[in-house]
Amino acid sequence: MIAGANGAPPVPEQEKSIWSVVAAGLCTRCGACAGVCPAGAVRLEAENGYFPRLTAGCTQCGRCLQVCGGREVDFPALAERHYGRRESFRENAIGPLRFSEAAFSRDERVRKNGSSGGLASQILIDLLAAGTIDGAVVVDFTEDTPPRPVPRVARSRQEIVRASQSKYCLFPVAHVYRELIDTPGRYAVVGLPCQLHSLRKWQEASGKLRERVVLAIGLFCHTNLEPGVIGDLLASKGIAPSRVRRLEFRGGAWPGGMRVTLEDGRIVPLHPGDIKDGAFNYLKYLYGAARCRLCPDFSAELADIAISDPWVRGPRGEYLFQGGWSVAHVRTPVGEKFWEEVKKRGQVTTAPVVREAILAGNRSLTRYKKKNLPARLAWRQSRNRPVPEYHLGPLTVGRRALAREQVAALLLRVLHSGPVRRLLLLVLFSRSGIVLIRARAASKKVMFCWGKHA
Ligand SMILES: Cc1cc2nc3c(=O)[nH]c(=O)nc-3n(C[C@H](O)[C@H](O)[C@H](O)COP(=O)(O)OP(=O)(O)OC[C@H]3O[C@@H](n4cnc5c(N)ncnc54)[C@H](O)[C@@H]3O)c2cc1C
Ligand code: SF4
Ligand code: SF4
Ligand code: SF4
Repeated sequence: MIAGANGAPPVPEQEKSIWSVVAAGLCTRCGACAGVCPAGAVRLEAENGYFPRLTAGCTQCGRCLQVCGGREVDFPALAERHYGRRESFRENAIGPLRFSEAAFSRDERVRKNGSSGGLASQILIDLLAAGTIDGAVVVDFTEDTPPRPVPRVARSRQEIVRASQSKYCLFPVAHVYRELIDTPGRYAVVGLPCQLHSLRKWQEASGKLRERVVLAIGLFCHTNLEPGVIGDLLASKGIAPSRVRRLEFRGGAWPGGMRVTLEDGRIVPLHPGDIKDGAFNYLKYLYGAARCRLCPDFSAELADIAISDPWVRGPRGEYLFQGGWSVAHVRTPVGEKFWEEVKKRGQVTTAPVVREAILAGNRSLTRYKKKNLPARLAWRQSRNRPVPEYHLGPLTVGRRALAREQVAALLLRVLHSGPVRRLLLLVLFSRSGIVLIRARAASKKVMFCWGKHA
């Protein structure tokens, strides 16, 4: 039996519903099931870590399972639909590409407010101004204290700018796609790879959603953090949640860092390090969602345009693109059409960026998400735990890789246990933690000069 949400009576376990996905630990918390359910039987609540909960209204119609990207994504079939050819998912580390270009918004406010170059927001602003789209799914913050990320359909430039910047913690987004089905218009969607997996599946099932979402913009994603990270970070700094008016993961000068704005207007950095080489990099070991370890897609392979940071280093290990740049990875003919339209309007500055440099900048990401994924899946299977079906073809895993994964899984279990997590959080934010983090950032730079891409 499943406990009902909000005091509703328990409902029987339902094989045709997403309950099986949640119970198997395969849910990415994308939110699509709540949007598609005709009975309104799926609840997504912060108190439950945003894992979907079924209420007694579930009729076992199976629609939620149809759109759910948590259990299965047929990458080759979806690639055929969007790129016009079946792609072998693993042969190309960064996914099918027409071309990549570095770019930033010429509007200083949009660029400064954005995560990297404000490019995702600028694309939306341009398409909205040209009347090409009527709105876009973005993620803003609620007015609560502390503010929580909340997805919205933005219909004005102001709403798009307000919602810019990456929110590096888990919360559902895809339930909002329901609004696009219910409200005629042409829309763009910005989303993480897993949100786009469910979007594409939902589009297979709904002609209306297929027609209305004219552009899917994806964000690169290594791992996302459990929603509890925000509360723990504030607690570690002794900041009462009720005092927080604004929360930013990439506030301030590029590349930005974690900080909060308090009720009296004071801006308090949560850590002196920046997002790339500061404490954030280590938070993923403490708060990284377990499901992210089973995810094969870091580069939004089902997007029309995927956007990333340009972590491209020069010969002395310095980042080549300074001051706020993004990279647009144009994947589909649709993406190319929109990208050319945006460039014609003249609001983005672009620069060439070679594929080898992008691959070098994302080397640890490709190793983690592509090369080492089979071992993580195999390890899980060896423990009789279900794994997602991505139609990747036969996966070969050596004994050493499996053993490495065994050690990693064990270590993560320890790191994720409450007391260890809190203790290490304090260390990360202590003076000695800051010194260690800075030393590691410097060593990464040196290692790069020696030809090792950290
Ligand atoms: C969890 C997460 C992990 C990431 N990991 C990487 C990585 O490993 N490597 C890398 O190169 N880039 C990564 N990115 C992408 C990177 O942080 C920037 O988002 C990207 O470079 C676009 O920046 P921008 O300035 O062009 O976008 P902006 O103009 O800042 O616009 C960002 C858009 O994304 C939307 N958005 C923000 N957070 C979310 C979210 N959680 N879910 C859905 N929509 C959201 C915003 O509403 C806005 O519309 C990650 C992003 C996220 C959210
Ligand atoms: S649709 Fe998304 S939120 Fe719902 S069960 Fe599947 S992965 Fe989880
Ligand atoms: S009513 Fe249908 S869509 Fe809604 S939860 Fe039940 S099976 Fe899923
Ligand atoms: S790693 Fe994959 S599953 Fe996790 S948030 Fe990113 S796209 Fe989603």
